[in-house]
Amino acid sequence: MANPKYAVSDKPVPVAELVATLSDGTKVKRRFPRMRACNEKDEKGKLCAGHLKRWYFFGDEVKQKFGPEAEVYRCEHCKTLYLPHPEEEPRSGTLCY
Ligand SMILES: [Zn+2]
Repeated sequence: MANPKYAVSDKPVPVAELVATLSDGTKVKRRFPRMRACNEKDEKGKLCAGHLKRWYFFGDEVKQKFGPEAEVYRCEHCKTLYLPHPEEEPRSGTLCY
């Protein structure tokens, strides 16, 4: 039985756009609203689906590009970095999941 949720449609699915690639190869992407799982795919096309967690330990390169107070999330699986969607309310430091 086909799940209608995954039915083929000609509407584009929201894609987290690639914002930057750091010198060590880490990708930095823009989340789409309410996105909580990584949408990176490996070479075989398998979805990563790792959990995105608020991350505070970025280095100078990220600070230079996005500011020292940047709100950064990191996939706990493939380490891809995500920036919040501009339409989302910024989360306070106590409300991270
Ligand atoms: Zn991932």
